Amino acid sequence: MSQNFVRVRFAPSPTGPLHLGGIRTALYNYLFAKKHGGTFILRMEDTDRKRWVSNSELYILETLKWCNIEPDEGVGYGGPYSPYYQSKRINIYRIYINKLLEKGDAYYAFDTDKDLDRKRKEYHDSGGSFSYNYKIRMKLNNSLTMTKKQLHDKLRSGSSYVIRFKIQPGEKLNMYDIIRGNIIVDTDHLDDKILLKSDGVATYHLANTIDDHIMKITHVLRGEEWLPSMSLHILLYKSFGWTPPNFAHLPLILRHNGKGKISKRNANLDFPIFPIQWKVPDTKIIIPGYRELGYFPEAFVNMLALLGWNPGIKREIFSLQELINFFSLEKINKSGVFFDVKKANWFNKKYLNKKKEEIFAFLCEEIKKRSIDKKDKDYLWKIIHLTIDRIHFIHEIWEHSFYFFISPSSYEDHFFHEICNKNAISKLDNAKILLYYADKFTSVNLKLLFTTNKQKIMQLLRLALVGILRGIDIFIILEMLGKEESIRRIEKLINQIKEKI
Ligand code: GLU
Repeated sequence: MSQNFVRVRFAPSPTGPLHLGGIRTALYNYLFAKKHGGTFILRMEDTDRKRWVSNSELYILETLKWCNIEPDEGVGYGGPYSPYYQSKRINIYRIYINKLLEKGDAYYAFDTDKDLDRKRKEYHDSGGSFSYNYKIRMKLNNSLTMTKKQLHDKLRSGSSYVIRFKIQPGEKLNMYDIIRGNIIVDTDHLDDKILLKSDGVATYHLANTIDDHIMKITHVLRGEEWLPSMSLHILLYKSFGWTPPNFAHLPLILRHNGKGKISKRNANLDFPIFPIQWKVPDTKIIIPGYRELGYFPEAFVNMLALLGWNPGIKREIFSLQELINFFSLEKINKSGVFFDVKKANWFNKKYLNKKKEEIFAFLCEEIKKRSIDKKDKDYLWKIIHLTIDRIHFIHEIWEHSFYFFISPSSYEDHFFHEICNKNAISKLDNAKILLYYADKFTSVNLKLLFTTNKQKIMQLLRLALVGILRGIDIFIILEMLGKEESIRRIEKLINQIKEKI
């Protein structure tokens, strides 16, 4: 097959936001298409109207845009196989289901839910299990057990029915998955799945197969949860007389603590699972996504790409173009992969180092917001260089640098109470004098001054200058604040202690 003809699709059901697994499926499809100069298609699998959620389509489009992996064709982009909504293709599916009926590969089934429940119970009570399959179908209420006339009458009377696929038993179906290799399925174990529901709408299996064929999809890359459906899909292709596409089922993304897979349902885990924020339609609660939490799309995409695929070299930072160049389906993991939010933060940090201008702009905004006297540019750049190692996100810069701009208005409670005594005052007084007489107010000199004086007052100084026991090297803080401001802050703490004792 010529590589130019690669056509892949991302085919989400608009039943809510995408989670990490969903967006990773989209990304792998995108990377594979771009690698082969192919086409990346977005198809909305929206036949299940009961599960349809209003803003999910927009969500999906916005997410793909944010990740910079936009489709070439499909919903929102148009293309030669429009419409790309399955709900608008109902008539197409009807044509094809009729072909299966004519061939005898599908049949009408009139069993009501109640009938089936009763049967299920009967089988269960006698120690067996019920499956609508070749063993049982001839005992049920379907067109296989009726004469033509009976069927005709039943249909004319308006009885409700579904259409089922007639699985031929006794076949060892040989399938190939690019990631998992050969898979053999015994058709005896398959049941006669519903292809057309009683409301006349095609099920996922039928619509998906027909669309993949009509839209000339060459490779189906999708989540592992669809692996059990692969045999049914292959049988459908066979029955239509079509060549199936190539399949690759992607490994599950698992929670790091071994608590199973990530799904839309675990939205309140201790790490984000949605790429961008999701507004829950009923409650209007907003669940932030990676975008809102300050992850860069490039970092997010880079992290996601390596969650289940490895480029075969010892390197972790890749631009989107590099990911495209290196991508191959053969290097995708077979087994589930663990997601670790710490690793996601690590990726963000790597990209943060290339975003200094943005950090600078953010810092300027924070200063402006608080009406702080504008500091000169060099001062701000110094702060950025001094604190960047401590942050993973742009917005964290303020909590790691506020003390360069504002004198503490309160002090870390626990430690403050501990040092509310005369001893602390005298230590602070000494430090003040040392600083006052220091000639060169540089971190190197100040360090020497304090070590030779063997005063163990570092924590006290930190409390005076920062207000909390955090922050960069205390001597650098002193140098940055300068003599006057440093002394002013020490005096402020002394006064506060005096007020308390
Ligand atoms: N509509 C399915 C889903 O939401 C797509 C499965 C497939 O790609 O075949 O997961």
